[in-house]
Amino acid sequence: MTLSQDVANRRTFAIISHPDAGKTTITEQLLLFGGVVRQAGTVKARKSGNFAKSDWMEIEQKRGISVTSSVMQFDYEGKRINILDTPGHEDFSEDTYRTLMAVDSAVMVIDSAKGIEPQTKKLFKICKMRGIPIFTFMNKLDRDGRDPMDLIAELEEVLGIEGYPMNWPIGMGKELKGLYDRYHNRVALFRPESDGTTYLPLDDNGDIDDSQPLKTDSWYEDARDNMELIEDAGNQFSEAKIASGDQTPVFFGSALANFGVKTFLETYLKFAPQPAAHRTEENDDIEPTDNEFSGFVFKIQANMDPKHRDRIAFVRICSGLFQRGMDVTLGRTGRTMRLSNVTQFMADTRENVETAVAGDIIGLYDTGNYQIGDTIYTGKKKLQFEKLPQFTPELFVRVTAKNVMKQKSFHKGIQQLVQEGAIQLYTSYTTGDYILGAVGQLQFEVFQFRMKNEYNSDVIMEPMGHKIARWIDSDQLDERMSSSRNLLVKDLAGDPLFLFENQFAERWFTEKYPDVKLASKL
Ligand code: GDP
Repeated sequence: MTLSQDVANRRTFAIISHPDAGKTTITEQLLLFGGVVRQAGTVKARKSGNFAKSDWMEIEQKRGISVTSSVMQFDYEGKRINILDTPGHEDFSEDTYRTLMAVDSAVMVIDSAKGIEPQTKKLFKICKMRGIPIFTFMNKLDRDGRDPMDLIAELEEVLGIEGYPMNWPIGMGKELKGLYDRYHNRVALFRPESDGTTYLPLDDNGDIDDSQPLKTDSWYEDARDNMELIEDAGNQFSEAKIASGDQTPVFFGSALANFGVKTFLETYLKFAPQPAAHRTEENDDIEPTDNEFSGFVFKIQANMDPKHRDRIAFVRICSGLFQRGMDVTLGRTGRTMRLSNVTQFMADTRENVETAVAGDIIGLYDTGNYQIGDTIYTGKKKLQFEKLPQFTPELFVRVTAKNVMKQKSFHKGIQQLVQEGAIQLYTSYTTGDYILGAVGQLQFEVFQFRMKNEYNSDVIMEPMGHKIARWIDSDQLDERMSSSRNLLVKDLAGDPLFLFENQFAERWFTEKYPDVKLASKL
């Protein structure tokens, strides 16, 4: 197969959702179709299994579970699919955001009883910013949920994206009869007791045969009425809008009952984009079929094996062909790196990878050479892909070393973990205190754990709670403006910013200093 055929077959995406919407369940179904897992329930059992958070880290250490489950690769109908996990909830961190920089499209799973929830909104915003296509799965149709019409309207009202229903529920909850599939011109019957799905074809009027008992069912009539209404007054299907992320095809179904998931996958594969070009800092677009190899590090996972202290740098390949043992340049340092110890992620095994192409994710075993955002490439021309966006932290802690005699390892640990991009570091102007910022609580816990494990440094973290971070211009810097309610600190680059106690403090400040411009990072 040629490189361009190989690239054309790649589909790399992330599933975004609020916790409990059904992301794991749907992922499992997809892996099942891909023949990767034989029995639904395996991913879930590994993922949750009622482990406490601290166990989670132990488990991660021992088995590298979060790595194997954070990228899953499988083949389906001639396509090679890479699913990147975006942990939600307590696992939420900057990793989650950065992962979205490495995908070409996103699948948004919504609990049809709940509609759009906060975490979905946050993740959606990032996808929107990138302008990537988003496909929506309205899940849990086997339960009573909200009116489908409301759910579609909510997409537009809350997220500002047009919804285009590809199918429509015929009843729901106990009354779920099937899906009216206008895209495939068929009705899929819900038969939870049988294995396969039965399809009834639609005639030219978009109707099923008179002999079908469903024909006179009021739920069926209802679904047809709604479809007709949408046909007349709803959004027009637009591939261009889907491609730019302005319209989302909406599929209804039930991941748990495996109803509508296969149709979703197959239709998704038809419309989801193959790997796109990536922009460099010099504003060049690197095409995925470019003969030179290139990629960027979007995530670093440390402590895979406590005995070896190894880390894995996750690389999204942007162009060319990866071959095991090849030499690449690491742009930041200019050094040549030999890529010999590289892994790929076929769901439950970590195999040593021989070749991979644009769209694929490879894991480089790393002894401390890579940082998040690094570009690697072959060829003479120096390459640096656009910087990964920085996310404004929302949670803050004051951090000190428990043992004052161990300042050296404390500083070394902090410097390295901050460099790696695991957490943000701020320094107070007035006291010189170290303050850590994160977007999710788990980041702090991982930080504390790694400081102890990798640098033998016990840290004390004093929660400062939620804060609002706002950057100011250096020429407007005046240390007298700092107070406990608006603490003046500098970030790693030395740029000054305020950590406001809350919105009142911010408002008070803007009234007192109307000339000082406040800016958030994202
Ligand atoms: P995640 O947190 O988004 O990964 O959600 P999970 O896949 O773990 O699902 C959360 C809960 O919802 C679990 O108890 C699932 O069994 C359940 N669930 C997932 N999909 C469905 C569905 O289609 N119908 C019903 N009734 N329950 C579902």
